[in-house]
Amino acid sequence: MERRELFSFLSSPIKGKKEDKEIIIRPPYFDNEDAFARECSNCDGLCSSSCQEQIIIIQDDKTPKIDFSKSGCTYCDDCANACEKGVLSLEFKKNILSDIVINQTTCMSWSGVMCFSCKDPCLEDAIEFKAMFMPTINQDKCTSCGFCISRCPSYAIDIKDKNVQPS
Ligand code: SF4
Ligand code: SF4
Ligand code: SF4
Repeated sequence: MERRELFSFLSSPIKGKKEDKEIIIRPPYFDNEDAFARECSNCDGLCSSSCQEQIIIIQDDKTPKIDFSKSGCTYCDDCANACEKGVLSLEFKKNILSDIVINQTTCMSWSGVMCFSCKDPCLEDAIEFKAMFMPTINQDKCTSCGFCISRCPSYAIDIKDKNVQPS
């Protein structure tokens, strides 16, 4: 059993119930949610094909969403530069519109197991531990890049959509 699977198995009795509905996280550099529905149906998903991290998924409705399951956003600007419809633009706010939070009921460290898997990939040093345990994310430092999410062996890092966009 892989280490991640083992942690997932060990943490399963205290895991909270699954999210009831999927949260759609949009790419960075957007200003108006309505623009996705209005413009993306006439585009071949240029933002997705330009993303070297391959984290932009084009949905059935042809609008893009971010998938943090394998990687995160480097804020490289490529998706905004590729968007010919002006939905994504360097003129707009940069950061991905979500709060990244550690679920204290499923996090191994909050159960007393030493783990720094999320801390290492965080270039912002936004994940703070108290005496090597009980990590929390400093929202003032976090850029919502998502790199910590796929590194957590117990899937304990949650994404909260500031826009509350149900699927
Ligand atoms: S800024 Fe770069 S890494 Fe982030 S979603 Fe856009 S293309 Fe991908
Ligand atoms: S490149 Fe722009 S118009 Fe095309 S799918 Fe992405 S956000 Fe929509
Ligand atoms: S989402 Fe926030 S806490 Fe996680 S790696 Fe990025 S900056 Fe750090």
